Amino acid sequence: MREHDRLFIGGQWTAPAGTGVIEVISPHTEEVIGRVPEGTEADIDHAVAAARRAFDTGPWPRMTPAERAEVVGRLAAIYAERQQEMADLVTAEMGSPIMFSVFGQSAIPQMVLQYYTDLAASYTWEEERPGMLGPVTVTREPVGVVAAIVPWNVPQFTLMLKLAPALIAGCTVVAKPSPETPLDTYLLAEWITEAGIPEGVVNIVPAGREVGAYLVAHPDVDKVSFTGSTAAGRQIAAVCGEQLKRVTLELGGKSAAIVLEDADLAATVEGFKLASLMNNGEACAAQTRILAPRSRYDEVADALAAMVGSLTVGDPADYSTEIGPLVARRQQERVEGYIRLGQEEGAKLLTGGLNRPHDRGWYVAPTVFADVDNSMRIAQEEIFGPVLALIPYEDEADAIRIANDSAYGLGGSVWTADVEHGVEVARQIRTGSCGVNMYVLDPNTPFGGYKNSGLGRELGPEGLVAYLEHKSIPRPA
Ligand code: NAD
Repeated sequence: MREHDRLFIGGQWTAPAGTGVIEVISPHTEEVIGRVPEGTEADIDHAVAAARRAFDTGPWPRMTPAERAEVVGRLAAIYAERQQEMADLVTAEMGSPIMFSVFGQSAIPQMVLQYYTDLAASYTWEEERPGMLGPVTVTREPVGVVAAIVPWNVPQFTLMLKLAPALIAGCTVVAKPSPETPLDTYLLAEWITEAGIPEGVVNIVPAGREVGAYLVAHPDVDKVSFTGSTAAGRQIAAVCGEQLKRVTLELGGKSAAIVLEDADLAATVEGFKLASLMNNGEACAAQTRILAPRSRYDEVADALAAMVGSLTVGDPADYSTEIGPLVARRQQERVEGYIRLGQEEGAKLLTGGLNRPHDRGWYVAPTVFADVDNSMRIAQEEIFGPVLALIPYEDEADAIRIANDSAYGLGGSVWTADVEHGVEVARQIRTGSCGVNMYVLDPNTPFGGYKNSGLGRELGPEGLVAYLEHKSIPRPA
């Protein structure tokens, strides 16, 4: 049991203003595994004041990028040494299979930290430009106090996408983890202290959505970076629009995997274990619409149903587990609701369905629907669980049309024997990323959404720009 009764504010373990408690419940055993204080608006005021002070008068924004990189590099080193502990903890909190967790919940966040640490040395922080009217110095300055609001599905990854570039830029941060997954941020806070990040530079207040909304609207916050649902993203964008606050939004998705006629089916279906079912399907970029050519439709359906039907579903801490429990009873019921809806909409259940694989824990059976029409709600709405929709297409143009017929635009993939041709198809998909014969997020390259999947980009140098203001200083020739 992990019991915490303090909040990490101003570099100190501070007593919370309220008496509320967040209980973290294991999705596998349904037992309480940890408790943290439930942050309130008063705690947000306190945390924002600490971040504001650290930004306005503290050393962090005044250090050189190289000096900051030295400190953040220490955090990256501690993270690298202890990343197994982080993987185990996130798995315990939210049910991510440990085989995925060691990579997606801890190794990747560490790589993101290391990436931005290294980028500090090569990034152009300041340049002299020959302006049209005289010389101009162009500098990059930190944007200020950042509110970083993250969901429960990949809590360390989504936080690190914000924290790492914000720190390197010289910003200070108030992070608000989800109530489902606050424990990992306590471990991170320990490492932040150990690394010697100055007080007030990172502050953490676990809380629910109302307190999150209060943080977004706080007048002393300069920039909001949010990962979560499209519905919440719209509300946050509206508030930031009113206040002309900088904002980055990483929202939902309903990505398509296009199986071309020449695809190696065995390798393709194996690839879907990660591309479509990573993290129990609780992944914004999961490719849950599988587009198959009519000519190979039955073959794809059989292979997909055989793969999904044979997945090992069980204790997420077990290294042989491929699908763990969903984060909460609420999520289990939501996903089951979509399985019921698919049947009502007339899709054909190939495997899975409403029989729960285990009596205890928030499990759902990995499910495949065939004969899905792209206009069905199970093809248009984000389910956020291990449920795939197989959709037939007539020819390549039809496949591209179907893939793009979505309110979302986050990820996608093309599966083919001809990689160059796959790249040509990927270029025509209106999403922020689209892999060929694989799907990964590379820390070196931008990640984000077109359309309802968000605003702005994280990762790569583009992800650093989001935490910088550009300033021009012209002077006479
Ligand atoms: P959610 O939007 O309900 O909550 C996300 C976070 O925002 C939580 O910390 C929550 O407390 C907070 N929050 C909710 N409403 C808020 C508001 N109005 N103002 C301020 N804070 C608010 O989402 P969720 O159910 O926790 O997470 C799942 C969603 O996250 C899915 O839609 C998924 O696609 C999305 N997601 C997107 C990405 C991406 O990079 N595009 C990555 C992971 C998850």
